[in-house]
Formats: sequence, structure tokens, C-alpha cells
Amino acid sequence: MTSYPQTTVLHGIETNRRNGSLVSPICQSTTFRRDTIDAPTAHQYSRVSNPTVSELETKLGALEDASPAVCFSSGLAAETALILSLCKAGDRVVCSAAAYGGTIRLLTDIFNAFNIDGVFVDSTSPEEIERAITENTTLVLIETPANPTLALTDIRAVAAITKKLCVPLCVDNTFLTLIIQKPLNLGADITVTSTTKLIEGHSAATGGAIVSRDESVLERVRFIRKSTGSIQTPFNAWQTLQGLKTLPIRVKAQSENAQVIAEALADHPTICKVNYPGLSTFDNYDLAVSQHEGHHGNVLSFEAIGGRATAEQLVEALEVCRLVEHVGSVETLVTHSASMTHGDCSRAHLEKIDVTQGLIRLSVGLEEPEVIIQDICQALSQIESREEDLCHAEALAS
Ligand SMILES: *Cc1c(COP(=O)(O)O)cnc(C)c1O
Repeated sequence: MTSYPQTTVLHGIETNRRNGSLVSPICQSTTFRRDTIDAPTAHQYSRVSNPTVSELETKLGALEDASPAVCFSSGLAAETALILSLCKAGDRVVCSAAAYGGTIRLLTDIFNAFNIDGVFVDSTSPEEIERAITENTTLVLIETPANPTLALTDIRAVAAITKKLCVPLCVDNTFLTLIIQKPLNLGADITVTSTTKLIEGHSAATGGAIVSRDESVLERVRFIRKSTGSIQTPFNAWQTLQGLKTLPIRVKAQSENAQVIAEALADHPTICKVNYPGLSTFDNYDLAVSQHEGHHGNVLSFEAIGGRATAEQLVEALEVCRLVEHVGSVETLVTHSASMTHGDCSRAHLEKIDVTQGLIRLSVGLEEPEVIIQDICQALSQIESREEDLCHAEALAS
């Protein structure tokens, strides 16, 4: 099934036999009627399960050759359920230091108060993960590529360690999605994805999904979801199903655009750093090639000479790229990570993971890449007071 992801996302949906509608309807019902007290229906109450949510879950699971996913109201709701499923007071979670800001906040500001110890390590070196795993470690949670530095963690190498030490490994796969990175095939036990990003893809519905081939984990996760009330709404699941139909082609097209833009920015004289796993100059390019399936995602980050002052002016001068706290949509989006997504992280944490004040994250969309290159160049030219045309990329665009 996974060899044909584009077909998987388009087919296998129950069409309505009565009126022939090709798009399956939203099952907007809280509850489900049964005939007798001892004959429960497939769905009983929409906090527990719902036909529209189940349709999305079946598809997301099939794409990873796994059981149906468990879908949540947001990515963080999924992470919360994951931690509640696997950890109790006294346990430890070993997490990538360079993770999504909300993941860090969840562990440090919420779970710490319940005596669940979140420990952040540089997961780009698997030995650090091994060193951090203690007797009471019940979850290793890694994010690769890391947000916003794109630093890569070797999933196979970490999985070898967690298997040896019998600790479940979960990969946050939001940035690439199962279309270009399949953590379960690389040895991970669980994936968590914010479907709010690439999977829905149109900035229209929040959601999160947990996928695993381990039924006991899924059963526990569903129990937590039912008990804490964090299931996705039918409407958001339906919206996500519509977005999912174009996920394979969007991810590829947006990744190809990101590659072109990363190469142009790398050549720009006032840009001092570009992080993108598809650049041959990227620190971990070999790992990117072996771990990603042909593409390297739609997110890159860069820094222009001048640090924070430049970053501030640059994001304000952009005309096409929109300044938001979001990635993975069809439009190109920029984020100033240090003050936005990672605004709640301590300075020490930001330094540890190389999130500098000048770093700008770019989530590349479907616009023609020349348009985005030109937009960044015109914004940079407003900052730099040099009269000659510095932008190599402008030549490309014209
Ligand atoms: C956005 C994001 C999350 C959280 O997802 P929400 O749907 O916003 O709750 C988790 N991990 C990563 C990598 C993200 O980008």
C-alpha cells in the first residue's frame, strides 16, 4: 500500500451509496444510537471515536504500514497523550534539545510539576541519548530534522540504542511527514505528527496523530484520549482528509522549491548561513540522503549578516512571505524562531541548540521559487546600503 501513497490518500473512502457523493460526509454527531443495551455500535460517543476521525486514522495508519492512527485536536494534545500513556511520576523522558518549542514547554513547565523528568540532550549524537537513559526512562522522543536548525538525528542509530535498552522510541515526524521519512521502517516504535502542518497543508485545521505498529501502545493512547477528551473534531478531521489528498505531491513540490531557494540563499553575499539538509554543504548531508526518501522537506532556516536587527527589518520588509508561527502550509511563511516558536525557551537553551537571534525560518510553499527568492532579495536590499546589485538570485529570477 505504501508504495502508492498518492493512490492510498485518494481511494478507499466509502462513497455514499444513496446519493453517490464522492467526498465522504462529515459525521457531525456527538452520539450514536444502538438497538439494544447490549449491542454497542461501532461508534458510541464522539469523545471516544467518530466515523470521520476514523477515516482519517485509517488512512494515516495505512501510509505508514501500521494500525490506524490515533488523532487528536492538535500535535501537542497528541504529545500530551503520548507522555501520559508511557510515563508516571518518577519517570524520565529523554528528548531532543532542538525540539519544537511547545514540546520543550510541555515537559519543563507542565510535566515537571508532576515529577516527570524531561531531560534534553543533543540527539544528533546518539551516545548522548544512551548516556541520558536511566532505569526510570520510559520514553525517548526525538525530532528530526530539528526545528528550526534542521539538525538531523540518526533514527537507525538511536533505535539500536533504545531497542537494546528496551525504551520506546518516538519520532516527531512533523517536518518531513511519512512521505519522505518513515521512522517506523527505520526502527522507531511510534511517530507523532502535528497534522496542523504539512498533512492538512492549508492552514485551516489543527490536529495531531500518533502512529505505531504496537497495539498495546495504541490501546493505552486511545484510553488516555478518551479519558482526557483530546480527540480531533469531525470537522477538522474532514478538513485534514481533504488536505491529505494532495500531501504526496505537495511535499515533493514544496521540497523541490525549498532546494532551489536554499541554493540561491547560500549564494547570496549578505546571507551568512543557510541550514537545509538538501545542500551538499549541510553538516549531515550523508545522513539526509540515507534517511530521507529523495526529498528533504520544505523548511529551511537562514541568517543574514547583522543578527537580530537585520532579522527584524527583513521580516518586516517581506512582501510575499508571511510572518506567522506556522510551517507546512501551501503559502511561504517566515518565523523569527527565537522570539516566536521558541519565545518561551531560556537563553541558555537557545544557545545550546544554535537558535541565534538572527535566525529566520522559512517554510516554503507552492509559489514559483523565483518569486520567493526575489522577495527575500528585495527585503535584504532595503537593509543593505550598497548600490550594486548584490543578489545573485535576482539574475536567476529574471
Ligand atoms: C507545530 C508542531 C508541534 C505541535 O503541533 P500543534 O498542532 O501546533 O499542537 C509539534 N512538533 C512540531 C515539530 C511542530 O512543528
